[in-house]
Amino acid sequence: MARTVLVTGGNRGIGLAIAQAFAKQGDRVAVTHRSGEPPAGLFGVRCDVTDADSVDAAFTAIEAELGPVEVLVANAGITDDTLLLRMSEEQFTSVLDTNLTGAYRCAKRAAGKMLRAKWGRMIFISSVVGLSGGAGQVNYAASKAGLVGVARSITRELGSRNITANVVAPGFIDTDMTAVLTEERRAEIRKSIPAGRMASPDEVAAVVTWLAGDSAGYVSGAVIPVDGGLGMGH
Ligand code: NDP
Repeated sequence: MARTVLVTGGNRGIGLAIAQAFAKQGDRVAVTHRSGEPPAGLFGVRCDVTDADSVDAAFTAIEAELGPVEVLVANAGITDDTLLLRMSEEQFTSVLDTNLTGAYRCAKRAAGKMLRAKWGRMIFISSVVGLSGGAGQVNYAASKAGLVGVARSITRELGSRNITANVVAPGFIDTDMTAVLTEERRAEIRKSIPAGRMASPDEVAAVVTWLAGDSAGYVSGAVIPVDGGLGMGH
């Protein structure tokens, strides 16, 4: 059954791969983008997840074009790495505002319509770093760990209404976000991953589309790693 899907930050990287995977299986897919043109073949809406009015307007536009959002993939995210002693309060709060509060804004806006439909899927894109921590990533790791609390609380609030909320925790995925790493750092990272390689965004998308389907209806509040074994033990 075709669903209406919203992927935030779906104009590039992991979000785009997720959006394309849903489109390929016949769903109605909207993606948010902040600037430029939306990806070809997908319904693009401008949205900055740090702005509640912008989130509301994006949902309203999607509802008019594709119907209420049945599957929300909260994927938009940023990093602003630096060591704790150098991290300004602005660096901390801006990463939290995008990655964690942004996901809350979208989930809150999506929940009403999901409740009315008595069906919904919320999938939060976290990170292996949310559970393992990362040097220089106090802000990012805090935001990604916070998504676990969000998904599990939503599971307790809305689980009886056929609405699931899950977290996907990718390891190192080849996107613009990891393209900034030096080759030396990439080699080090590869050595630490049992799978011995980074992943393609499509490998994250495959797990997200499965979670959104009817067959995953009894999976909620879960944290699913897609990290080649990097974070084992959480
Ligand atoms: P990219 O940097 O390639 O893309 C980030 C996306 O988020 C872009 O579409 C960007 O939009 C969007 N975005 C950022 N800030 C905002 C905002 N305020 N409002 C709306 N959209 C915003 O990242 P990835 O594809 O690599 O990462 C996607 C998600 O996966 C992130 O949450 C990231 O933390 C997570 N992740 C990534 C890993 C990796 O190895 N790559 C590993 C683990 C988790 P725009 O194009 O307009 O800037």
